[in-house]
Amino acid sequence: MITALAGGVGAAKFLAGLVRAVPPESVTAIVNVADDDTFHGLHVSPDLDSVTYALAGVNNAALGWGRADESFRTIDELDRFGSDTWFRLGDLDLATHLYRTEQLRAGRPLSAVTVAIAEGFGIRTRLLPVTDDRVATRITAADPAGPAGATREFAMQEWFVRERCEPAVVAVHFDGADAARPAPGVLEALHTAETIVLCPSNPVISIGPLLAVRGIRDILAARRDHVVAISPIVGGAPVKGPADRLMGPLGIEVSCVGVAREYAALCGTLVVDAVDRHRAGEVESAGLRCIVADTMMHSPEIAAALARTTLAAVA
Ligand code: GDP
Repeated sequence: MITALAGGVGAAKFLAGLVRAVPPESVTAIVNVADDDTFHGLHVSPDLDSVTYALAGVNNAALGWGRADESFRTIDELDRFGSDTWFRLGDLDLATHLYRTEQLRAGRPLSAVTVAIAEGFGIRTRLLPVTDDRVATRITAADPAGPAGATREFAMQEWFVRERCEPAVVAVHFDGADAARPAPGVLEALHTAETIVLCPSNPVISIGPLLAVRGIRDILAARRDHVVAISPIVGGAPVKGPADRLMGPLGIEVSCVGVAREYAALCGTLVVDAVDRHRAGEVESAGLRCIVADTMMHSPEIAAALARTTLAAVA
């Protein structure tokens, strides 16, 4: 059994490769929900959806989010009423949010609804939200409308999508994390996994909130020799997304070495990209074994090869 800790797009690509390398049923993905938010009354779970759509082969690889062959007629129609439409929800994507919201309102926990959605897409891998409780990433950053030096707090999607990651980050915290309980099955999946993979995900706002949920950090630390991560930072920059806009201000070097230092207490092995091979010694000095591989997942085949290398590293 393999248990993966997953954020959005990088994790989705990796998991789509992993299930080509091993039986899909042998994989459990524990997914970040701290980016979840409500739009037009609907509960949107961006990371769960990215992973679900990629595993189902219906993801929009060009956009990096949402569904392939998507249209945006409904959200565009909302412009007519002056509704806020900066968070783009596609017409097919809306069905997922409608179903999720309806089920949550009927009292089902997010973990049960996630299983039902995965089943609807014919996915054989087990997907678990890290918690059924509400955890929300809050980003303190420069206030674009305020005087110089003023800061304000943003919900993750406000900073990420509406403000395009521009306001300089000062601090990040995860509202609700202290009280959040792991969803049913999460701790067991970590205790019993032969291998635990930290997917190539944003260390601050994807892996960070997963580690903030009670018990998870401790299990990883106790099982450190079974934990392997793939660096989401390649050649000193993220492949996609704002990881550098968060790591830098929070004092984490934007490099595979910075990732290694951040994960050192929890993870025994780090897979870094071939372009970073000259930094392997520094990764090892941080206390992790360093494996060099092609981590640029331009295709599911490359992602599958990366998954094989990753699993072999801790076999
Ligand atoms: P985001 O930063 O909020 O978009 O966070 P996500 O957790 O969804 O993950 C994006 C992370 O995945 C970024 O840090 C990317 O650098 C990383 N990533 C995306 N594609 C790849 C890839 O092909 N290879 C590697 N090594 N990392 C990737």
